Amino acid sequence: MLQYFRPDNLEAALLALSETDWTLLAGGTDFYPARVGKPITENVLDLTALEELRSIRKSEEGYTIGALTSWTDIIAAELPPAFAGLKKAAKTIGGIQTQNAGTLCGNICNASPAADAVPNLLALEATVQLKSSLATRSLSLEKFILGNRKTARKADELVSGIFIPRPGENAVGNFEKLGTRSYLVISIVMVGVVAELNVRDEILQLKVAVGACSPVAQRLKLLEEECKGQKINDIEIQSRHLEQLEPIDDVRASAAYRISVIPELLGRAIKGIIQP
Ligand SMILES: Cc1cc2nc3c(=O)[nH]c(=O)nc-3n(C[C@H](O)[C@H](O)[C@H](O)COP(=O)(O)OP(=O)(O)OC[C@H]3O[C@@H](n4cnc5c(N)ncnc54)[C@H](O)[C@@H]3O)c2cc1C
Repeated sequence: MLQYFRPDNLEAALLALSETDWTLLAGGTDFYPARVGKPITENVLDLTALEELRSIRKSEEGYTIGALTSWTDIIAAELPPAFAGLKKAAKTIGGIQTQNAGTLCGNICNASPAADAVPNLLALEATVQLKSSLATRSLSLEKFILGNRKTARKADELVSGIFIPRPGENAVGNFEKLGTRSYLVISIVMVGVVAELNVRDEILQLKVAVGACSPVAQRLKLLEEECKGQKINDIEIQSRHLEQLEPIDDVRASAAYRISVIPELLGRAIKGIIQP
């Protein structure tokens, strides 16, 4: 018989996960749309009563964002300018209802190539915290998302949160998203960036990732390296910076269109650091 369980503490959730197979449910904003018109055929472990996982904690080392933290919580939180891209993305995730229910961790666990959190979290060098009844482990986001809808989570684990190392003192983030309209739209291409500049607007450090142009969003490490020391407004995106991307044709856009708009979107995201 199918089971539905809504534990009110983490220990009970982990014990349940150690005993049988479950599909995890957080805000449900990916879970339910994927099952419209179909009966539910799996055991559902509903995480929404785990209040202990709904928090943003700051320490000397960085920020821990609990798995039940919603997009609305991210928008409302006091976070340093490096998180500006993540906050901007949060405001574009559906409408207010979706932002109230949907979680940052649900977005990464769903592992869609178009997940708006991912480029921002790659630029923030996030790690994913996984817990089972036996162990706790941490994986970089790059190692956690293995492909389209595929993660490194084991069946007896849940994601308890993500950790973002303390950003540089002057780090500033930004996010640009291209869709078929301005709001309520899934990204055709999106860019997350975190940069540190000196007083002459020269790049000291740049971390930039592109989403929806490969099975998993990717950091552009060659561009990051070549931009060092350049004035932000002088940065030019060359095709060699984009060679690792492999966009596909889908219902939202053709691969050729995606490739043609990436330089413009990258330019806007990077230069938007100083010209919001
Ligand atoms: C109208 C609408 C508009 C949307 N717009 C956007 C958009 O613009 N950009 C965008 O990126 N997304 C968008 N989404 C998708 C969705 O809102 C986000 O991906 C959201 O962050 C998912 O979070 P959730 O808590 O609702 O996840 P859920 O639907 O509860 O879960 C998603 C997946 O993650 C797993 N999961 C959830 N939490 C955990 C956990 N702690 N540990 C392990 N696995 C877990 C679930 O098993 C499931 O496979 C939209 C959705 C809707 C309905």
